[in-house]
Amino acid sequence: MEQTYVMVKPDGVQRGLIGEIVSRIEKRGLKITAMKMHQIDEETAREHYKEHSDKPFFEPLVEYITSSPSVSMIVEGENAITIMRSMNGATKPIEAQPGTIRGDFAIETGRNVVHASDSKETAEKEIALHFSESETTTYSRIDEVCLYE
Ligand code: UDP
Repeated sequence: MEQTYVMVKPDGVQRGLIGEIVSRIEKRGLKITAMKMHQIDEETAREHYKEHSDKPFFEPLVEYITSSPSVSMIVEGENAITIMRSMNGATKPIEAQPGTIRGDFAIETGRNVVHASDSKETAEKEIALHFSESETTTYSRIDEVCLYE
């Protein structure tokens, strides 16, 4: 099973969207194997977004992502990375389809509510960055017999 890292960003937490987002993930059939609320520190934020370190939006992004608590999750399932990215919708909310999280709840790129890893390599790095081994779980969901052929 594939694993991905998902974050409800500070704006999503502030706007009371944790339950909505967790609910969408659960209802889709993806399994949450780790979840915590935490305020991301500056060093972690810089590491998480280091591929954007030369972009003009980098400093405001670090400031925003560290500004108040986020919710971090490890989400598991067949093709979990692609499914989560499509559930989140396009990075720019103006391009995000209705029915996606960003298409339903966001207006601006700098306040786009959620994050999900964009590849297997990134998912591994982000999971290791935000979670320790002891914070993760392994279990079967009872509906897996219906979700998978
Ligand atoms: N971002 C921004 N302004 C931009 C582009 C990106 O504030 O012009 C922020 C936004 O929060 C986005 C994050 O940087 O989600 C990472 O950008 P990326 O292109 O990796 O998009 P994502 O993987 O989050 O869809």
